[in-house]
Amino acid sequence: DASSTIHWNKAPCRFCGTGCHVQVGVEEGRVVAVAGDKHADVNKGLLCVKGYHVGGILYGKDRLTKPLLRDGDSYKEIAWDEAIDIVAKRIMKSPNTFAFYGSGQWTIPEGYAAQKFMKGGLSNNHIDPNARLCMASAVTGFLATYGVDEPAGCYADLDECDVLITWGNNPAEMHPVLFSRVIDRRSQGEKVRLIDIGTRRTRTTDAANDFLLMKPHGDVAIALGIMHLLIENGTYDKKFVENFVNFRAPEPENPTLQGEAISFDEYKKRIAKYTPEHVSELSGLSVEQIRMLGELFGDPKLKITSLWCMGMNQHTMGTAINSLVHGVHFLSGHFGKPGDSPTSLTGQPSACGTVREVGTLSHALPGGRVVAKEEHRAQAEEIWNMPSGRINATAGHHTVKMFDQFTKPTDEGGDIDTLFVQVTNPGQTLPNLNLLFNDKANLKDKFLIVSDVYPTATTQLADLILPAAMWVEKNGMVGNSERRTQQWFKMVDPPGEARDDCWQTIAIAHRLFELGHEGMKDKDGKFIFAVYDDDGEEVPVWQWKHYYDVNVDKALFEEYRKFTVMKHKNLAPYEEYVKARGLRWPVVQQADGSWRETMFRFAGFDDPFVAEGKEIDFYHSVTGDGRGQVWFHDYQPPPEVPDDEYPLWLCTGRVLEHWHSGSMTRRVSQLNRAMPTAYIEVHPEDASALNIRQGEVVTVESRRGTCDLPVWINGRGQPPKGSIFVPFFDETKLINNVTLEAHDPFSKQPDYKKCAVRIRKQ
Ligand code: SF4
Repeated sequence: DASSTIHWNKAPCRFCGTGCHVQVGVEEGRVVAVAGDKHADVNKGLLCVKGYHVGGILYGKDRLTKPLLRDGDSYKEIAWDEAIDIVAKRIMKSPNTFAFYGSGQWTIPEGYAAQKFMKGGLSNNHIDPNARLCMASAVTGFLATYGVDEPAGCYADLDECDVLITWGNNPAEMHPVLFSRVIDRRSQGEKVRLIDIGTRRTRTTDAANDFLLMKPHGDVAIALGIMHLLIENGTYDKKFVENFVNFRAPEPENPTLQGEAISFDEYKKRIAKYTPEHVSELSGLSVEQIRMLGELFGDPKLKITSLWCMGMNQHTMGTAINSLVHGVHFLSGHFGKPGDSPTSLTGQPSACGTVREVGTLSHALPGGRVVAKEEHRAQAEEIWNMPSGRINATAGHHTVKMFDQFTKPTDEGGDIDTLFVQVTNPGQTLPNLNLLFNDKANLKDKFLIVSDVYPTATTQLADLILPAAMWVEKNGMVGNSERRTQQWFKMVDPPGEARDDCWQTIAIAHRLFELGHEGMKDKDGKFIFAVYDDDGEEVPVWQWKHYYDVNVDKALFEEYRKFTVMKHKNLAPYEEYVKARGLRWPVVQQADGSWRETMFRFAGFDDPFVAEGKEIDFYHSVTGDGRGQVWFHDYQPPPEVPDDEYPLWLCTGRVLEHWHSGSMTRRVSQLNRAMPTAYIEVHPEDASALNIRQGEVVTVESRRGTCDLPVWINGRGQPPKGSIFVPFFDETKLINNVTLEAHDPFSKQPDYKKCAVRIRKQ
């Protein structure tokens, strides 16, 4: 409509790691419409119900608009200068007892600025993101198997596969636009067999040809059972094994991600006990179901894609099960062709782009570098023009340890006393909240700073609340689950005095610079975040009024880009992302000057870094010989199992309508009306045995805490007898008071999917 005054521009959706593109309509400084972007490969114009309502998240009535400082039992408004000064002076007093807790929702420049501030500025590695809670095991699985992180394939695998296997994954609700690619193929008459391996029936099960109900932790046994059958039946891919893989197992003492080499014969010997009968006992699948999976993977004519997300990552054997599923694909040769791929998904919009690639985890540096290696530290110090030795060689606290240390009183050895939380809600999402978070209320010597857009379970305990700008209120870049880097520009002003997270970090850094903190200076004595205009004059970006005079996102991104070539995660110049609906790395320049993305890594037909003439080349192989690793990990029981006192399994997770802790989607009336409350899914026979009825409020309790919830029998999800499911989106029903903080030994990611509970009638 030529008379329309709505201006449209592109942005990725604010929510999940699918990374759908939207067109955002702005009129008179307000987002008034959102549409699916027809030019985007990821979603081809389609959005899920959250995406269609994403504009509404900006306009909840209780947006935070001013810095708030605790004043007894209430808060008083303060100016930004004072807020920044308070934070900087606390850090100045004790830089090593400060920690930064961030997020897979940080944009790439925000995460990059935060980790540079900590690791390069404060020589302090106590920075970790909430992605530790959702995909750290996928990272360690990729590193152990490929020597480098992130999926080899991409979403196009969903358009090509003959068989799609979901491993403890419910994409029909969690990644609905991706799932619809498969459903759409079927509706057009293509045959795609969907096999759902899970611990309860979900909406994904409704579309599945086969539902394989497994016991919690059964996935480890199933993967081992498939590999056993491939070897026993002689249907493994001999060419793939001969040319492209080694076999590996954890060291008997002090296992590491490197493990030790074992021969194929030794592998065969170790896996021999995982017969279909034994796997059936461990996993709950029937012998026939296990044989069916073995036969499918043994068929070289099929193209098989495996999909997983939290089910395999939030697991005390998370690294093991991730490595084993990659191993199933390697051993069977279902790898390196479109549609034949093991693919992990992420829940946050930039778990890949910001956490994994930028390196905001406590042991990491940008571009696949790690603080433990001298050469890597030297590379970062050179790019940052910092003196040698500035970066601390010891990894900082991972998430669980960080909160453990923060909630422990200083005089009892707690070594973190000031914690800055940006764009995440640990007061709702940490496991075992009573242990890891709520005790803060009694810790008088600690100081919690929280930057967010709305009041949350976390801001309730904050000493200082900083109002944040969100989504199209700022420039941004993110990276989705298929290695796609996406960019957008600020379209509307944030409300009141809300400010970018990136600006907050730079403003604190500059105040420290003014206070004389040596770490905020580079080798030439200049501010470490200095940004210059076209005339070479420094722009005072730490003052909000000048922050957009230059494009700080672009300046930080171009500096970050120097890291990305170090591990073949090459990114294109900023301008290429302005033009595109994202590009999948590695992105390399062609002879004609254009930039080409990569869809299928390690495959000779597509990946520019595969050695000439090679079909498959794992060029970051941990064994240095271009080969991937097929791991053996013995099955180990879950950390806590139901018993007479606590006889039920509890699994927690998400729902279609709400995104993670619900702090944004609960403000959108359409979404909140559609799913107004958390609930407990109970099997009818358990409900009957406990004499509880539909809708009745009951108490779920574990050895750690309790949560009151209404009962939903035969609801959207249907757990088997002996199991219950509770979503975590509802801040009025904190199921993480009940969950367990036990975590994977390598990834340190907690297991939210299984612990022992009981139901008490009220
Ligand atoms: Fe947004 Fe994810 Fe829905 Fe796509 S699938 S519209 S990225 S929430």
